Amino acid sequence: MEEEKSEYFKNILIKEREKIVKIIEGIDKSWSKNIRESIGNHTGYATHMADLATDSDEREKDTYMLEREFKNLKAHDQALKRIYTQSYGICSKCGKEITEERLRTIPHTDLCINCKRNEERINYNNRKI
Ligand SMILES: [Zn+2]
Repeated sequence: MEEEKSEYFKNILIKEREKIVKIIEGIDKSWSKNIRESIGNHTGYATHMADLATDSDEREKDTYMLEREFKNLKAHDQALKRIYTQSYGICSKCGKEITEERLRTIPHTDLCINCKRNEERINYNNRKI
């Protein structure tokens, strides 16, 4: 990939990465706030099972979001690494170039559309079994 283009995608990836870090920080803040509040609320006789259930639902949702964002963060880190090692935009499975159109839609992808489709088909088949 030409330097100009990889520079373009590098900037996108860095910006996206910053956004993800902010989201993670946001979850982290609301998490510690929730824990403080639930400790405050649930001391003494005022403990209601319904409140506890809501808390754990929230916690589960946060955990799910955190996992997703950390995966996302990792994908961006890897994409940036590929830019520095000049393998960005090349499919990690078949070694062919990933189309620019696809990279514009999903800048952190490391698979060309064909390999991605194959992967999805395999996942889908596995689920059926
Ligand atoms: Zn491929």
